[in-house]
Amino acid sequence: MKKEVFVTKEQLDEIVKEFPTPFHLYDEKGIRENVKALKEAFAWNPGYKEYFAVKATPNPFLVQILKEYGCGCDCSSYTELILSDAIGVRGEDIMFSSNDTPAEEYVLADKMGAIINLDDITHIDFLEQTIGHIPETISCRYNPGGLFKISNDIMDNPGDSKFGMTTEQIFEAFKILKEKGAKDFGIHAFLASNTVTNDYYPMLAKVLFEQAVRLQRETGVHIKFINLSGGIGIPYKPDQEPNDIRAIGDGVRRVYEEVLVPAGMGDVAIYTELGRYMMGPYGCLVTTAIHEKHTHKEYIGVDACAVNLMRPAMYGSYHHITVMGKEDWPCNHKYDVSGSLCENNDKFAIDRMLPKIDKGDYLVIHDTGAHGFAMGYNYNGKLRSAEVLLREDGTAQLIRRAETPADYFATFDCFDIGKKLIQK
Ligand SMILES: *Cc1c(COP(=O)(O)O)cnc(C)c1O
Repeated sequence: MKKEVFVTKEQLDEIVKEFPTPFHLYDEKGIRENVKALKEAFAWNPGYKEYFAVKATPNPFLVQILKEYGCGCDCSSYTELILSDAIGVRGEDIMFSSNDTPAEEYVLADKMGAIINLDDITHIDFLEQTIGHIPETISCRYNPGGLFKISNDIMDNPGDSKFGMTTEQIFEAFKILKEKGAKDFGIHAFLASNTVTNDYYPMLAKVLFEQAVRLQRETGVHIKFINLSGGIGIPYKPDQEPNDIRAIGDGVRRVYEEVLVPAGMGDVAIYTELGRYMMGPYGCLVTTAIHEKHTHKEYIGVDACAVNLMRPAMYGSYHHITVMGKEDWPCNHKYDVSGSLCENNDKFAIDRMLPKIDKGDYLVIHDTGAHGFAMGYNYNGKLRSAEVLLREDGTAQLIRRAETPADYFATFDCFDIGKKLIQK
């Protein structure tokens, strides 16, 4: 399938006059249509709720849009809790799915009334000692180990993942928590990441629903919700078939009716904690070609670098690139598209066939709406870019300004040298 850009060349020409490249641009219309379709796909479950994984795109303006559709927030750190609170997402609209959790984070999550999702059995005592009680509603993260397969395809390797409790531990944890006064229980698992298949959620649901029936029978607890977490992926590559959220919702419903309903558990709510699926395709990184270099390979140097989008450098991920205004040109030039870090892995594309690129061309790097800006950092003293929202009416709104040197030096503010640096 051809990958389309959600902004036109004409719109972009206007936007860059106000906001110089590089910046991340988000598509309000796309975000809204997608969240509506997700809600419809799970409307068969009266308790259904999406807790947006804030880490994917921690921008209050964007999370606010999802909140309008009843989404909560999945947080796993102190600052993510603060962000949620600031936009009025509080109490049980927050799922605190943390791991290796510092005490002060449990304290804040409890103070805000968030649902706490325990990553480990030892965290029961740690939580109780930290906050002085066990909450009435509590969730546990499950990791069955082994390989997670769909037919013969290995989707991921839970046995090698640091998250969650073993089968034995989750039974034990539920018994202990019940003794300590917990009333409503949740089960959570995240067994495969960025799955581009309609079968992942239904397969995961089967594992969790069967486990839930056993847990309810053997420990006598009331299971209130099952949290399928994140993991629904997006087609980064043009030849990938996108997920069909309706088929995914239907697949989960079938397993629900097959496993939970006959066990008398037809009141269990389904929760999700999607990140990538909610925002990934609705963001892109807009950058300008500023150099071309002809050495042992052909390089196009752009004004963005890996600090603005780390996925290619970190995981070798593919991100599609469109050269604006040259959509219909033949892709007959082979380029490495590189940033300016003193690191040879700072490349957005390697040996990519693209139209002939000239200095000044705008390159749109696709699917940066989740785990894009969010993974940014400041190596080489590089600054984080702005974030801009392309609104439904076609206008552009700044939703985060670009960093300045003063931001970079801000943590020297308690020293004399800092005062000098910040003024520069
Ligand atoms: C990262 C994460 C998510 C979201 O994952 P996506 O792949 O972006 O959907 C959900 N839940 C937890 C606990 C996570 O760590």
